[in-house]
Amino acid sequence: MSHPQPKTIAIIGAGLAGAACASAFAHAGYSVTVYEQAVTPAAGASGVPMALFAPSVSSDDAPHSRLLRRGVNVLLQELHRLTDAGLLVEGIDWAMTGVLERCIRAEKKLPITWLEPLDPIDLQSIVLGEPYPIRPAGKVQELFHGAAGWVNPMRLIAAWLAHLKIDLKTQARVTDVAVVHSDVVVVACGYQSPELLPELSGVLQPIRGQVEWDASPVRVEPALKLPACPVNGMGHFIQTPNTWVAGATFQRDEMDLTPRDKDVDKNFEKLALLLPELTKPELARIRAESVPWVGVRTAQKNRQPLMMQPDTDQYPHLWVCTGFGSRGLSLAALCASNLLASVEHRLALG
Ligand SMILES: Cc1cc2nc3c(=O)[nH]c(=O)nc-3n(C[C@H](O)[C@H](O)[C@H](O)COP(=O)(O)OP(=O)(O)OC[C@H]3O[C@@H](n4cnc5c(N)ncnc54)[C@H](O)[C@@H]3O)c2cc1C
Repeated sequence: MSHPQPKTIAIIGAGLAGAACASAFAHAGYSVTVYEQAVTPAAGASGVPMALFAPSVSSDDAPHSRLLRRGVNVLLQELHRLTDAGLLVEGIDWAMTGVLERCIRAEKKLPITWLEPLDPIDLQSIVLGEPYPIRPAGKVQELFHGAAGWVNPMRLIAAWLAHLKIDLKTQARVTDVAVVHSDVVVVACGYQSPELLPELSGVLQPIRGQVEWDASPVRVEPALKLPACPVNGMGHFIQTPNTWVAGATFQRDEMDLTPRDKDVDKNFEKLALLLPELTKPELARIRAESVPWVGVRTAQKNRQPLMMQPDTDQYPHLWVCTGFGSRGLSLAALCASNLLASVEHRLALG
């Protein structure tokens, strides 16, 4: 009996999208080659110093909310699997702390179809009883998402790429998809995907974002003053044992990676609203210790991730996996498993 030759797949881009795909295909037995233009993986938007994941709720339980909840569910399975394999350390590389959502922009409601304040896959989102006082006056509703927390995306990407069947080639910029020879080719280049496939430029929109952060936690007295988990609702604030991140700005159709002083102002204005626990002197001190980080995400106008075959006649083996917007953590693992199923289906059809 002869064994069938393992199928080959080339993935262009080693961000959250490319690394999640590499891991999913490697586990399915493919020989995977990842091409990354930079010196290290996570060189694009996925290099954000710390990222949060949280389910999303809406009163009509919109498809986007259901997609994100399913994505968080799959991400959590991956985080546990990689931790059990010794590739991630819970509490250092990620933590399911829960996320507090302060509904500063608009009140949110749990789906009316939920009989209990739990969703069908038990992501434990609840409306907290007491409205929260905000600056300068007023009160807002708070939601607590139990199955939510923070992840160091660089560590997650490294863990996903640590598989014997994955060959990572860095400083390997691909300039033409036609010259990549493999059974399957996946473009996962984030906002730079249209450079390889110009037809995507009308589909994807680049969105520049800046966060402020520091490689040590915020120290305020008393320490218990700040919520023990990330907070979102007006930008976000993530605090881990080793770092904090606040932001982000949101500039459509901009790709300039230079930090801007006016974005620092915007991020700290949002932080003052999001965390009224912080006094003005504390905010000033935190600001003096922070540094900016800039990245460019990409999204479709309908906010759905982009997974497609661009031109089946010209490139029958070519796929695209990108367009995660500001939800790369919640979408990467789900989209990778979905892409694997689609590719296998297509290959089976011949
Ligand atoms: C400021 C900011 C804050 C964010 N915060 C969060 C958060 O808290 N939670 C969350 O879930 N998401 C967050 N996001 C979004 C998240 O970072 C993105 O959704 C995610 O990183 C997108 O991953 P990606 O792999 O599609 O793209 P990228 O991470 O941009 O990866 C693309 C990779 O492809 C490489 N590449 C490009 N062209 C080529 C080529 N021709 N050849 C070879 N390699 C190539 C690039 O170098 C890069 O490494 C944030 C984004 C920003 C900008």
